[in-house]
Amino acid sequence: ESVQKKQSLVERDRQNVWHHISPYSEKNPPMVVEEGKGSWITDHQGKRYLDGMSGLFCVNVGYGREELAQAAYEQIKKMAYVPMTQSHGPAIELAEKVNEMLGGDYVIFYSNSGSDANEVAFKMARQYHQQKGEGTRYKVISRYRAYHGSSAGALSATGQALRKYKYEPLTSGFLHVAPPDNYRKPEGMSIEDYNIARARELEETIIWEQKETIAAVIMEPLITGGGVLVPDPVYVEKVQEVCNRHGVLLIIDEVICGFGRTGKAFGHQHFNIKPDMVTMAKGLTSAYLPLSITAVRKDIYEKFKDGKENSHFRHVNTFGGNPAACALALKNIEIMEKENLFNRSAEAGNRLLNGLDDLRNLDFVGDIRGLGLIIGIEIVEDKLTKKPASPECVGGLIAACKANGLIIGKNGDTVAGHNNILTLSPPLSSTDDDFDFII
Ligand code: PLP
Repeated sequence: ESVQKKQSLVERDRQNVWHHISPYSEKNPPMVVEEGKGSWITDHQGKRYLDGMSGLFCVNVGYGREELAQAAYEQIKKMAYVPMTQSHGPAIELAEKVNEMLGGDYVIFYSNSGSDANEVAFKMARQYHQQKGEGTRYKVISRYRAYHGSSAGALSATGQALRKYKYEPLTSGFLHVAPPDNYRKPEGMSIEDYNIARARELEETIIWEQKETIAAVIMEPLITGGGVLVPDPVYVEKVQEVCNRHGVLLIIDEVICGFGRTGKAFGHQHFNIKPDMVTMAKGLTSAYLPLSITAVRKDIYEKFKDGKENSHFRHVNTFGGNPAACALALKNIEIMEKENLFNRSAEAGNRLLNGLDDLRNLDFVGDIRGLGLIIGIEIVEDKLTKKPASPECVGGLIAACKANGLIIGKNGDTVAGHNNILTLSPPLSSTDDDFDFII
């Protein structure tokens, strides 16, 4: 009876649930997941998988942490809801903690998702420039291949055409430039020169567009979902210089890179920069509950509190800064610190990169790269031409890993055919045995 009941779950799912960004498949229905412990999840038929993607790059402390459930439970019993027009202890404490992790000088605005956090950043950037007397600045520049979210503004900033073109026109005023892709840099050019050239293209775009129209640049410390493109530090530092030179705000999207994913608290801390805004979500709560943050430099906030009529930020969301989510986030960060998970991510990332090195000998592995516990394996048809492997080939590798009990991902879709990068992003708390299993 129980087998029958479990089989019917798949059928009930098929009848009632519309899944995210997945083609409908009669033959390969989505997994129905029942349990998680550490880095392992169990499906409804009792088969176990190592979750090499931490869900969607988010369950940084692994599954089944009772302390997180307890933190949320205690807070719900005490005070379940406070709108963020007011305040509460966990929101204040978490703001202090995140500000400290960012090196100080920020205020914290709460929302629910990474997309929300980016929308807030775009609205703040436009309003800031208006209130500073530079109201012509409204455009946002981001990079091709980047993903910044699914809502209109965040999707406009996203540089992956296949995710967008059926919903266009989206929000106006969003432009894209190419990111550095060191594996595909021009032959004979040094990585450093290539990265400097990419930053120069960004500067030229700002100038050609007339710099007085540009409000902000948004980028991830490294492009994650778009193919794990790790830049040379000179690129990121030049982008900051360019933004400063032209009065453009620099928004760093830490939705994936934040909270230890790259081996430091925040991905941008690998570079010598100080962003104007930092957006974060996922690892903030290890995705146990929805919560996101737009951290904003205090000098920007000043322009919103000058007492003039209508100079406050006219934005509200019902669930942002939910007390249970904030209490849980604080406990989540406490666990990361107690278990030294940021260093663990750096060390384990190197261990994985070393352990996977032999794969380079395979005819179809073009490149292996990463930073901390985000690793990309670029699959090609031919190592000389670097022609991306077909979706069937990449899909076949993912299915083979799954059949052997390992969940891995692939980078987002682009019309340029770069959907050929396998992705590994396991929980930072994975054990040595887990890493051996992945290798
Ligand atoms: N920014 C980046 C870099 C992301 O990877 C994502 C989600 O994958 C988002 C923003 C959007 O976050 P959410 O799905 O929570 O809206």
